[in-house]
Amino acid sequence: MAGQAYSFVDHKYDVVVVGAGGAGLRATLGMAEQGLRTACISKVFPTRSHTVAAQGGIAASLQNMTPDCWQWHMYDTVKGSDWLGDTDAMEYLAREAPKAVYELEHYGVPFSRTEDGRIYQRPFGGHMQNYGNGPPVQRTCAAADRTGHAILHTLYGQSLRHNAEFFIEYFALDLIMSEDGVCQGVIAWNLDDGTIHRFSAKMVVLATGGYGRAYFSATSAHTCTGDGGGMTARAGLPLQDMEFVQFHPTGIYGAGCLITEGARGEGGYLVNSEGERFMERYAPSAKDLASRDVVSRCMTMEIRDGRGVGKQKDHIFLHLDHLDPDILAERLPGISESAKIFAGVDVTKEPIPVLPTVHYNMGGVPTNYWGEVLNPTKDDPNAIQPGLMAVGEAGCASVHGANRLGSNSLIDLVVFGRAAAIKAAEVVDPKSAVPTPNEACCDKIMARFDKLRHANGGTPTARLREKMQRAMQEDAAVFRTQESLEQGCQRLTAIWGELADLKVTDRSMIWNSDLVETLELENLMANAITTVHGAEARKESRGAHAREDYKDGPMGGRDDENWRKHTLARVDEAGKVTLDYRAVVTEPLTTFEEGGIDMAKIAPKARVY
Ligand SMILES: Cc1cc2nc3c(=O)[nH]c(=O)nc-3n(C[C@H](O)[C@H](O)[C@H](O)COP(=O)(O)OP(=O)(O)OC[C@H]3O[C@@H](n4cnc5c(N)ncnc54)[C@H](O)[C@@H]3O)c2cc1C
Repeated sequence: MAGQAYSFVDHKYDVVVVGAGGAGLRATLGMAEQGLRTACISKVFPTRSHTVAAQGGIAASLQNMTPDCWQWHMYDTVKGSDWLGDTDAMEYLAREAPKAVYELEHYGVPFSRTEDGRIYQRPFGGHMQNYGNGPPVQRTCAAADRTGHAILHTLYGQSLRHNAEFFIEYFALDLIMSEDGVCQGVIAWNLDDGTIHRFSAKMVVLATGGYGRAYFSATSAHTCTGDGGGMTARAGLPLQDMEFVQFHPTGIYGAGCLITEGARGEGGYLVNSEGERFMERYAPSAKDLASRDVVSRCMTMEIRDGRGVGKQKDHIFLHLDHLDPDILAERLPGISESAKIFAGVDVTKEPIPVLPTVHYNMGGVPTNYWGEVLNPTKDDPNAIQPGLMAVGEAGCASVHGANRLGSNSLIDLVVFGRAAAIKAAEVVDPKSAVPTPNEACCDKIMARFDKLRHANGGTPTARLREKMQRAMQEDAAVFRTQESLEQGCQRLTAIWGELADLKVTDRSMIWNSDLVETLELENLMANAITTVHGAEARKESRGAHAREDYKDGPMGGRDDENWRKHTLARVDEAGKVTLDYRAVVTEPLTTFEEGGIDMAKIAPKARVY
């Protein structure tokens, strides 16, 4: 067998974390702090992870600038999720958020400050006071418009204080699964010297980020290729709620780079070709600070109705030029620079051309609020997959449900990264033996690797990737129909077939970027095909999943009776997708009497801003 040509460098750990973004680093740091022998593997240098690009901020009800409480934050998260989020996880997030932000402050994150020295907080879309009744709340804690940069660098510094070991520029290939389905570790390829490393562990934590690059135009880094989802799918485990893909209203037209929602938080607004602030018409109360899916749809409708700006009337303008240049320089220096470089625009004088752009994946590897991966069975919808956890954008806890609120991802990374470490300390016994890896599984992993390395068909990876990206962009867009989604399923199935015809030109083991991109394409495909199939099957509109054929009725096309449930999608080697469903968790962690939220406040209702 081909796989036998490779020898392994063997490692043994209590915990192996795959990914060194905000979620992976917070988990690594926590595991090491708990005294677990921990390794962290990353395909890029930790501070190059996509978290570094997060601009706007991190949500927590600190009440530094306006009245606030965790119950209002929870309400906004429930409403933002369009009632698809799991209630226990959303309560955990909102309650733990202030603690997590103060912890970051004490670790050394250089937050922007108020006059009296407290953490500066800005308004963000969908975050309101008084259980949604408004006015907007200032809840998003920010370090200018480089919050992710500040957090990631601080967390990396903190991780180095502990005894965690880093394996940097190692590409994780696949999960090692035992005969009886326990995750026993992961195999990774050291890109720098071509060696293959086998990490045996009692717990593997996937923190591999999102899969924005399944689309043609995305704000995410080129490394956001859903590798964790690919590995999970190949292990025969399901992915959850993949049909929910967030489009950010303000990607720079053409380049796709993000202009943070913080720009609208600081007073920026959108206009159409008639110079009209059209959001006032669609969302009279929240206006430009309505939830992301809402604003993206309104922009798309304006463009469709012929009121787009530019020569082709195919985008929208974002105005910041009415704001004080000193405030722009102080609070939004990064996006002022991006607008100059990528749109040639001086934000103090001209509007920025923007367009809804793929930004975030609400779906991912299903977990409970401790980060433990779920492998639901008929009898137990919350059955736990032994040996595996997932955190951050790769996971689906699910706090974001059908639509994530801005600044709720950074807080998700640290709250659930920490929760995973607390849980691991309970379930991983440092004194127990590290499992012996299943050789048959290891052979299979290396056989796949070897096959791709020597792939000698007629289709270059870049060409097939572009085909996938264009299909996703066209068929699983801001607005969807039965027709577009059926077409998406057919196209993705055909592209899956073409994977067999890939051509890799570089056969070497050292810095073989051709092979890296091919492995990433296979991972992207597992995410993409489950996205279109989940979307085709879901006969309703909810959150970011907006179907033009389901938009009427009191809930605007949402069908709680039949569809308030999570999609579980499995994909086999032939690209056949099987769908199943799992009930949404509607029980909170604490009752009202125990100090929890008043459940009547978060009962399902129509979602208007
Ligand atoms: C431009 C931009 C701005 C954003 N702004 C905000 C914001 O202001 N507020 C907010 O809340 N959210 C924001 N988000 C969303 C948020 O930043 C992301 O969801 C979050 O950073 C994801 O973090 P993560 O730790 O899950 O993954 P990432 O930061 O993407 O890290 C993934 C890690 O996994 C590793 N990895 C992946 N595959 C492999 C593999 N096969 N082998 C080894 N390692 C692997 C990578 O090396 C990397 O270290 C923004 C997103 C973007 C794209």
